[in-house]
Amino acid sequence: MIDIKELHAEILKGNRMALARAVTLVESSKITHQNLASTLLKGLAPYTGKSYRIAITGAPGAGKSTFINSFGTFLCGLGKKVAVLTIDPSSALSKGSILGDKTRMEELSKNPLAFIRPSPSGGEIGGIARRTREAILLCEAAGFDIILVETVGVGQNETAVKQLTDMFLLLLVTGSGDDLQGIKRGIMEMADLLLINKADGENKRQSEQYRIEIANAMHLFMANPNGWVTQSLSCSSVEHSGMEKIWNEIQRFFAHLTINNQLEKQRQEQQGYWFHKLLEEALLQSFLSSETYLKFNPDHTDLFTASDALKMVQDFRNARDDKA
Ligand code: GDP
Repeated sequence: MIDIKELHAEILKGNRMALARAVTLVESSKITHQNLASTLLKGLAPYTGKSYRIAITGAPGAGKSTFINSFGTFLCGLGKKVAVLTIDPSSALSKGSILGDKTRMEELSKNPLAFIRPSPSGGEIGGIARRTREAILLCEAAGFDIILVETVGVGQNETAVKQLTDMFLLLLVTGSGDDLQGIKRGIMEMADLLLINKADGENKRQSEQYRIEIANAMHLFMANPNGWVTQSLSCSSVEHSGMEKIWNEIQRFFAHLTINNQLEKQRQEQQGYWFHKLLEEALLQSFLSSETYLKFNPDHTDLFTASDALKMVQDFRNARDDKA
């Protein structure tokens, strides 16, 4: 039996075990668990919203885990409570994981001020993002100041991640050529801060050059509607250099967003996005499990038109109305 009252109280005390249990609850696809999770989330809602929600993205190998280990440890050193949530589309698509086990964040995982939660396995990206959104709220209720959402920048899940977080951080490395290791221009345009990682050893000079190139290229992009000008900074996650500059820039970003309540506006728009997204999901789910759909042979190869689709949905609605 899951005691929601107790979970609620323990989360508010910052109990990490209780937090982990609650995250498992929101990740569950069982209806009874989802109902419990919903009650829990609604009860905790007044205690949420106070963190910096930051997305960290970049191609596999750019150094995301190493960076989060280094930057997270730096933040804990300032007395901040840091939660790390990962979204890994590869684990959803192939059951294998690009990110692998989170052993690479070893130092951070031992820090009493940190909470690290790997990606839930299975399900599609939209579903993973939804569960991550709820996990963010739980972490906030547990008193975490900074939530880092790690995601592989391969272009499929950035939009959903953008709708989960306040700030979008993109990790790049030099020597990548024009294609930016498969990072699409669209993702560059989403970034609120660009980080040239691995600026150490022989790479240091080249990284600085690359940083300038990137900064110049950014001028060609459309200005951010909220008036923020994206900067590029270099860092080394293995040498732990550049962390303070990055933290200053993040603080500057949030100070910028609080002018004219932009942060609040942005989060309200995100609520709207999730309202529609969740409705869409629920509707689709209900349709795909309906008799109307099940009677239809999904493998059929005949021509299927928009009018056929509308008719099917009409049949589905009629069948519902008959039952009611
Ligand atoms: P991810 O796939 O983006 O999470 O990348 P990882 O954090 O696993 O890093 C990929 C590889 O790059 C590992 O071998 C890291 O040790 C290395 N790496 C990460 N950050 C740095 C850095 O700042 N400098 C150097 N020289 N290597 C780094």
